[in-house]
This record gives sequence, C-alpha cells and structure tokens, in this order.
Amino acid sequence: MTDIKSLTLDELKEEMAALNEKSFKAGQIFSWLHRHGADSFDEMTNLSKNLRNNLQKKYDIYTCTIEKKLVSVYDNTVKYLFRLHDGELIESVVMQYKYGYTICVSSQVGCKMGCRFCASGIAGFVRHLSASEILSQVYVAQKDLGIRISHIVMMGVGEPLDNFDNVMRFLSLISDVNGLNISMRNISLSTCGLVPGIYNLMEKKLQLTLSISLHAPNDEIRSKTMPVNDRWNIEELLKACRDYTKATSRRISFEYAMISGVNDSVACAAELAGRLKGMLCHVNLIPVNAVKERDYQKSSDSTIAAFIKVLEKNGINVTVRRTLGSDINASCGQLRRGEGPK
Ligand code: SAH
Repeated sequence: MTDIKSLTLDELKEEMAALNEKSFKAGQIFSWLHRHGADSFDEMTNLSKNLRNNLQKKYDIYTCTIEKKLVSVYDNTVKYLFRLHDGELIESVVMQYKYGYTICVSSQVGCKMGCRFCASGIAGFVRHLSASEILSQVYVAQKDLGIRISHIVMMGVGEPLDNFDNVMRFLSLISDVNGLNISMRNISLSTCGLVPGIYNLMEKKLQLTLSISLHAPNDEIRSKTMPVNDRWNIEELLKACRDYTKATSRRISFEYAMISGVNDSVACAAELAGRLKGMLCHVNLIPVNAVKERDYQKSSDSTIAAFIKVLEKNGINVTVRRTLGSDINASCGQLRRGEGPK
C-alpha cells in the first residue's frame, strides 16, 4: 500500500494516469488530503464511489490519533500525544502568539543525537517519521482546535536533518499552494549541527529560518553536552552557517540553552560574541528546562541578564525565549517518546 498523503501533486497526477483517471482528480484528492485534512476516502464526496473504492485498495491515508491532550491553564498552550498507525507515540505542541498559532512538530520517534540536557533521546531512536506523519500532526491539531495554524517550528522530538528526504517532502507539501500553503518564511527548522545536512539544505535555497542548537561557545563545553560536536566541531559548524547565509541571504538563529554553571558565565558570553562577530544572526537564549533524569539547572535571571549585556555590547542580536506551557511540560527538551506528561 502506498502512503498517499506523502505524495506530491505531480506524483498524484502520475498515479491517476496509471489508474486511467483524469489528471484533475489528483487535484481534488490533494485538496481533500491537504486542505481539508481528510483521513478517509469516504469523505471525498466529489469523487465517484468507484474511484474511492479503487483508491481504498491501493493507498493508505496515514494519520495520527489523539492519545492525550493537555491544555496549559496559563497560556492555552496545547500539548498532544499522538499515536501513529503502528502504535508509536509522538508529541507536538501548539502555541498561541500575537501573530497566530505555531505548531512545534516532531520529525522522528526518539532521537539518535544524545544531547545531555534533552529528554528526547533518553529512550533512544526508534524510527523516522514519514512526510505524512509530520503533516498529520499539523492537520489533526488544526481540526481538533478549530484553528488555522500559520507557523511551524521543527523543534519537537528528533533531528530533522537526520530524516532529510522525508522532511524536505514535508516542507514541500505544507507550503504547497494547493495545500495549507504555509509560507517558508513562517517555518523554522532546528538542527543540532549535522554539517552535511546544512549543506544539503543550502542547495534547496528555501526561505525558511535555520536554527542551530549551539549551546556553547567552545568545543570543550559543547562536546560535554552534545556528542554531535565530536563529529563536526564549532568551527566546521560556523563555517557551514556562514556559507549557508551567503547562499540564501537568510539570517541564522542560534539556540543557546542557559545551563547554570556550565555555559552561562560572562566569559562564555564574550567568547560566543567573538565567534559570532560579523555573522548575520540572532541568538535565542533558552533558560534550560529541567529534565528529571539529568541534574542541569537553569541559569538565574541575573546571570542571563549579564550574559545578554555582553552580547549586546558586542552588537549581537539577542532575545530570551518565553516559556510557554510550563504546567504541562510542553517546553523544549521535555518532549519524549512513549510517555504521557505528569
Ligand atoms: N534536533 C533538533 C531539534 C529538536 S530540539 C535540534 O537539536 O535542534 C529543539 C531545541 O530544544 C534545540 O535547540 C534543543 O537543543 C533544545 N533543547 C533540548 N533540551 C532542552 C532543555 N532541556 N532545555 C532547553 N532547551 C532544550
């Protein structure tokens, strides 16, 4: 059976040709799947019964079902635990901002990267998500909340550049004018720093925002917290970032989790500023979220303020990420496979 929701419109047209169906049927099916979030062929009422039966025999419409849903009493952030067709569980978070609704989607079941401060990889890696499984997180959340999602961040569980082809397919489908038509400018993709993946992404020349999980100003600290740094160090990573900006003219966003006593001194700030000098970039500080299996603590407000001061003095654009959904464990690094929030 073919996963029909992962097919592009052009591929669907080829499928229709193979079934001796008119090409415009592909557009109708695409619209049902991607605009209306249909999860059965029976819903596609402008198709003949016969065609619907034939489609049923040849294709699966993979979707996800809501296993658990938690709504923050503070800010209406919604965290979903979704069950996939094979029983695996993934998480997504919907946040409301002034400019609209943003969904944070997962790209893999589990994660291989093993960042020490992150909960996502604690249970290891299970499998990649297909394009349709990443899309379904958006479609199901939208339908359930009765809203239109306008922004996407690929910052849930998983390393998107480790699932490159499926993620590229997802991006193409979610931004398709015949689907949800979400602008690339409203999409962020976050990576822990897979350098070849950054170059592959650069080739695509997409207008999305690339976020780099940097989290340290030097290799000594970064290697202690992020195993990926032993494969591609900060110098190689920042070179890839400079090349990326040159090729795409897009500003890079550096994520920096502030961990008490690990990477949050003013000396770290000065070193970071030195390394990022002259780059078209933005630094996003995230007070690290405590993960119960790890003993990292978030930096104090005064430490963060001092860190910001140094960056700003050096002309680096910096913000602190607002914490949303703190009562439902919805924050970065707290999403995990196979476990409902407490
Ligand atoms: N694998 C990708 C995307 C998923 S993580 C990446 O590494 O970028 C999304 C962001 O949350 C990353 O910047 C990640 O480093 C950060 N993060 C993970 N655990 C965290 C924690 N406990 N506190 C704060 N941020 C965390």
